[in-house]
Amino acid sequence: MNNSNNNKDTIVYEAHGNLYLNITNRCTADCIFCLKRYSDGIYGYNLRLLKEPSLSEIIKQLSEHDLSKYEEVVFTGFGEPLVRLDDVLEITKWLTTRGISVRLDTSGHAKLLYPDRNVAEELAESGMKVISLSLNAQDANTYNQLCDPRYIKAYDKMLEFAKDISSSGIELRFTVVDLPIVDIEKCKKIADKYCAQFKVRHYGGSV
Ligand code: SF4
Repeated sequence: MNNSNNNKDTIVYEAHGNLYLNITNRCTADCIFCLKRYSDGIYGYNLRLLKEPSLSEIIKQLSEHDLSKYEEVVFTGFGEPLVRLDDVLEITKWLTTRGISVRLDTSGHAKLLYPDRNVAEELAESGMKVISLSLNAQDANTYNQLCDPRYIKAYDKMLEFAKDISSSGIELRFTVVDLPIVDIEKCKKIADKYCAQFKVRHYGGSV
């Protein structure tokens, strides 16, 4: 393990002019490229949580920062933020009323986690500005090999969620990791079809 200090339970951390939130270590997938597999954290922050922070603990930590100096606050970290959807909504509302731009990084399994809710619409109503969705692969088979999602049909449902996001008015971004099995060109075409921005992330572990 490397790239981390000994302070576990990092909830809020800063880098690249942004403030990042690590609100859970739970996830709906087990990606072979996940940072958790080869590091305790990122940018020198240890993102392993001994205990999930409560909503009030997260708000308290946010209050201790001068939020106006950050470009955006981003739900990301060592887990899938949407496993705590109601807290994501509350925190986003709290930030939005203070004029702060909010982004969510997600695996996109919202329709499987909450089949009876319109998650994209709820996120839009809370003030969410941008959603960065882990497209990860050009087809379901490659996606399943890379991500080992907890659900069947996860790839299709992730793409359905992408459509919901676009309809909700939230800015959509797709991301992939630059692994040999990923066909970047095909993924870029999918992003174009969904009118999404496209970002290729570098894989930092060993292949
Ligand atoms: S969805 Fe993200 S946090 Fe979850 S296993 Fe994959 S890379 Fe890791």
